[in-house]
Amino acid sequence: MTTDQHCDVAIIGGGPVGLALALAMRGSGLNIHVLEARKAENAGSDPRALALSYGSRLLLDRLGVWHDIAQVSPIKTIHISQKHALGRAVLRAAELDVPELGYVLPYPALHNALQQALHADGISYQTGAAVTQLLSETDGARISYQHDGVEHVLSAHLAVVADGGKLLETSHPPEITDYGQSALVTHITCQFPKADTAFERFTTQGPVALLPYKDGYELVWTASHEQAQQMLQWDDATFLARLHEHFGDRVGSFINVGTRSCFPLRLRRAPDTTLPHTVLLGNAAQTLHPVAGQGFNMGLRDAWELAQAMLACAPEALGSATMLEDYRKSRRLDRNAGIRFTDGLVRMFSNDLPLLSGGRAASLSMLDCLPLAKKFIAKRMMFGANG
Ligand SMILES: Cc1cc2nc3c(=O)[nH]c(=O)nc-3n(C[C@H](O)[C@H](O)[C@H](O)COP(=O)(O)OP(=O)(O)OC[C@H]3O[C@@H](n4cnc5c(N)ncnc54)[C@H](O)[C@@H]3O)c2cc1C
Repeated sequence: MTTDQHCDVAIIGGGPVGLALALAMRGSGLNIHVLEARKAENAGSDPRALALSYGSRLLLDRLGVWHDIAQVSPIKTIHISQKHALGRAVLRAAELDVPELGYVLPYPALHNALQQALHADGISYQTGAAVTQLLSETDGARISYQHDGVEHVLSAHLAVVADGGKLLETSHPPEITDYGQSALVTHITCQFPKADTAFERFTTQGPVALLPYKDGYELVWTASHEQAQQMLQWDDATFLARLHEHFGDRVGSFINVGTRSCFPLRLRRAPDTTLPHTVLLGNAAQTLHPVAGQGFNMGLRDAWELAQAMLACAPEALGSATMLEDYRKSRRLDRNAGIRFTDGLVRMFSNDLPLLSGGRAASLSMLDCLPLAKKFIAKRMMFGANG
């Protein structure tokens, strides 16, 4: 059986970026419909932690959800170093005139707060609704989805694809750089945790990050896919000992490790082409390596800018080629800068070429000594290239 509906804006994917967009549009008078494939009971199972920038905190504040996010730990210092080599840089909130550089929280804590705000506002948000097809036509978008075994068709002036990237992967293939790496994520405790301090350590097998969270750290340990699979199998004692060997002694020995999960890492960049009445957002537009914790932060800026473009346009121009081109132009600089920055970091730091090792040490030391360079990089990480 098929049932037909119509709305102004259909958001495909109720991940954090899709939900943030829906919230940014509340009070607009537009009829907005969010379709999320996961069933409500599975929504809180994502094991990753996110480092949110100070700029994202300000946007979440404007969306009215910041104070409802439970369980956030602040980052006031970021310590950057490389294994077996000289050079280090330290970014401190106090030197950059912000109260905190960022915050660490579990993906589900952010997602829950966004979901609850949507429910409170009565925005239409359907879980268990898996989109199977999107047709971008000259007079609007047609979306087919399955819900409770029933096929539905939803037409919209604008379809926002915020599904993480699968739906259009075959019809509009993205540019993909496979880093040959996976990220193992878990929670760890250690002997000497340093309050509010995050560590980013570059090693030839990939970066390892310790993000301060509650009694310990959220660990993001990158390695080749094969190594990461082995790391999942190690018993806890072996895991903790190998981590100590790999990360060094900055926080003493590691004491406990939580459940471990793995994510394959790729740079995925959707083509910069225009599809009528359709726009890609968040990970669907660009999936970044988590080396600098930029993916969601950039997706949130995508959502905020798209909401501003929709709110500024006349109702009959919603989803028009002009509106979409204006939005894409407004995001181009930030998007390209974010992609270059994270990709450049991975390429520069994840190898053992001796010539690059010297360059890396020099650039970390220079960054540490030059307040203006430090400010520039930290601002980019906190607010993106559009400032
Ligand atoms: C290990 C790791 C660590 C990370 N750390 C950070 C960090 O510290 N800071 C940071 O900013 N970013 C980080 N990121 C990136 C961040 O997780 C993503 O950028 C963010 O989750 C993107 O949100 P999204 O809503 O665009 O996509 P997603 O989170 O992928 O959500 C997409 C949603 O769409 C739904 N969906 C999929 N297909 C369909 C369909 N056909 N129909 C309907 N719904 C569908 C999915 O169920 C999901 O709910 C990290 C990523 C990884 C892998």
